[in-house]
Amino acid sequence: MRPIEYFKPTSLQEAIQALQDEGAYALAGGMDLIPSLQENILPAKRVVNLKAIGEELLRGIGPTPNGLQIGALTTLVEIAKNETVRSRYTALAEAAETVGSPQIRNVGTLGGNLCQRPRCWYFRNEHYHCLKKGGARCFAGDELGDNQYHAILGGGPCHIVHPSNTATALRALNATVHVVGPQGRREIPIDQFFVLPRRNIMAENVLEPGELVTHVTLPEPPRGFRSTFVETGEREAFDWAISGAAVALVMNGAEVAEARVVLHAVAPIPWRARAAEEALKGQRLTPETIQRAAEAALEGAQPLSQNAYKIPLTQAMVRRALQRLV
Ligand SMILES: Cc1cc2nc3c(=O)[nH]c(=O)nc-3n(C[C@H](O)[C@H](O)[C@H](O)COP(=O)(O)OP(=O)(O)OC[C@H]3O[C@@H](n4cnc5c(N)ncnc54)[C@H](O)[C@@H]3O)c2cc1C
Repeated sequence: MRPIEYFKPTSLQEAIQALQDEGAYALAGGMDLIPSLQENILPAKRVVNLKAIGEELLRGIGPTPNGLQIGALTTLVEIAKNETVRSRYTALAEAAETVGSPQIRNVGTLGGNLCQRPRCWYFRNEHYHCLKKGGARCFAGDELGDNQYHAILGGGPCHIVHPSNTATALRALNATVHVVGPQGRREIPIDQFFVLPRRNIMAENVLEPGELVTHVTLPEPPRGFRSTFVETGEREAFDWAISGAAVALVMNGAEVAEARVVLHAVAPIPWRARAAEEALKGQRLTPETIQRAAEAALEGAQPLSQNAYKIPLTQAMVRRALQRLV
């Protein structure tokens, strides 16, 4: 271990100041950050614990004039159990309640879940100096790379998948991410929050150094709104998914008026399947429409040497989500 400075600010201002230095990392529940330090994959010099900050915005779930607000330090179990989230933003409750294990959900926070780093085993192994750590190669993308869990959409030059359940659900729910940093506060629509490796290989989102997520807001669900999150993995618990989908629909009677279809664990960002959304618009949710949408969702997929199985698996996830909404 290298020595790492530990700082526990009591105000946002102090936290932002402390996070501006190179090698400074925010600590929330620590479910991702602490293992990353143990794995020695971050050039950490300072850890800034957010949990003593007295700002109310960071905690809890409450109404706003236009919807709902959830603080970044709210735990996943609080989100999964909240009645308003369960009934009105179901995809988020389902995403939160399928993270890891009860122990992880008791400690892990919304901000930390959204900003957790990828699970690519080359990235997670300190002996591989991969592209994402400033190296010259993406080992997963190589012909002989072990890439069974990697991206089939939006990959290259790095082929990670975004690991966060809540990120996928929040994109389907059209959330806004509220951040604060050295330049003040800003609101980022979720569609603009994540970045592909071809735009910034070192990060998965647009947060600048010293910026923190304070809270997330969700718009008031319109009449006829329903949403769900489904995922599948090699184990039922204590593991990340290998595929999944979050779908949000606005129904006009039996017809789909609006759809947001977001694929999980198949791209470096939660992946909006716009062709599937188009295939659903104005349609009744018949088995044929559902099948067409599932096929459209995977249009343009480019599997690596070992992960073509993710195409039919993810089509099944889209079908399952839509069937559940029926
Ligand atoms: C065995 C296991 C299985 C798991 N399975 C899943 C799964 O299926 N799905 C899933 O989504 N996750 C899964 N996880 C990941 C886990 O849920 C996340 O690591 C956890 O939610 C992160 O939250 P945290 O509060 O502990 O974050 P931390 O570990 O404290 O932080 C995570 C990252 O976010 C940054 N960060 C934290 N808070 C903020 C903030 N407010 N603003 C900006 N940056 C911030 C930190 O600097 C760090 O880089 C699993 C973890 C384990 C150990």
